[in-house]
Amino acid sequence: MGNELDELKERLIKEAEGIKSQADLLKFKEKFLSRKKGEISLLFKRMPTIPPEERAEFGKRINQLKQLGEKLLKEAEERIKGERKRKGLIESIPDPTLPGIPRKIGAIHPIARTSHEIEEIFLRMGYDIEEGPEVESEFYNFEALNIPEYHPAREEQDTFFIRKGILLRTHTSPVQIRSMKKRRPPIRIIAPGRVYRRDEPDPTHTPMFYQIEGLVVDRGINFAHLKGTLETFLKALFGEETRVRFRPSYFPFTEPSAEVDISCPICGGKDPECRVCGGTGWIEILGSGMVHPRVLEAGGIDPVEYSGFAFGLGVDRISMLRAQLPDTRYHYENRIEFLEQLK
Ligand SMILES: [Zn+2]
Repeated sequence: MGNELDELKERLIKEAEGIKSQADLLKFKEKFLSRKKGEISLLFKRMPTIPPEERAEFGKRINQLKQLGEKLLKEAEERIKGERKRKGLIESIPDPTLPGIPRKIGAIHPIARTSHEIEEIFLRMGYDIEEGPEVESEFYNFEALNIPEYHPAREEQDTFFIRKGILLRTHTSPVQIRSMKKRRPPIRIIAPGRVYRRDEPDPTHTPMFYQIEGLVVDRGINFAHLKGTLETFLKALFGEETRVRFRPSYFPFTEPSAEVDISCPICGGKDPECRVCGGTGWIEILGSGMVHPRVLEAGGIDPVEYSGFAFGLGVDRISMLRAQLPDTRYHYENRIEFLEQLK
């Protein structure tokens, strides 16, 4: 009897080691542990045939066999689960020879690109970049720039007010005043940034747009310096063949003032049907002038000793012109596929 039980124990261990699959597991369970026909269950049925003095020992040993069988079954089950998991992991290791997944990282916005290009040109000419707050005081946005209260220019520039005396700047010109207060001549700066006006959006207007403003202050600065600088800049931006013309104009913060036109970069003045210049051959591109003595004073600079020139241009407008965009609002529609094509 004892031998038979030892032999069964050995088979249990050996067959448990051979379990490789879910089917093997079921087979093992059926063979040894099934209630009706399992070898261990059948041993229990033999209990009445065992001599009474051996019964207790016999019962104990078949119980141990049953527990061993259950333990081996559980271990084999765990082992199979673990192997399946390992195999799954190996299958999920990516194949490094496959091509990568392309990821969209976007593109530099045409307005930012245009602004950077303009900044680069002036940096090469020895200018510094200055920035100022977009929420400004009325003083810096108007008074210091020779635009007193009731001045018609304040009507023209419809303004977003935050509260009395505080507004969203309507131009980058306040940076001129701030720079003059901070620096001593010679001053050569450009000020790029956002500006805000209460314009209804249309093909050439948005309530927020970008400007770049320039300011030069030193002893003996005259209109020839202004003209030479802007010609150099515009040829660098639009090409050497570009012609530049100055027309007298009026701005409160400069005297004398001039609007600056360039020859049409699209048709060169040769196409009377040109949509960009309307057949005139010229495009208005920026405003400029000699800094008004009152503006120099507001910046803490003596207008007897120093003079200067200033200019400003709309970056959106230049981007629109170069890309031949019919509507500036396309800039702000956030369609990357479209924007990244613009030059
Ligand atoms: Zn044209």
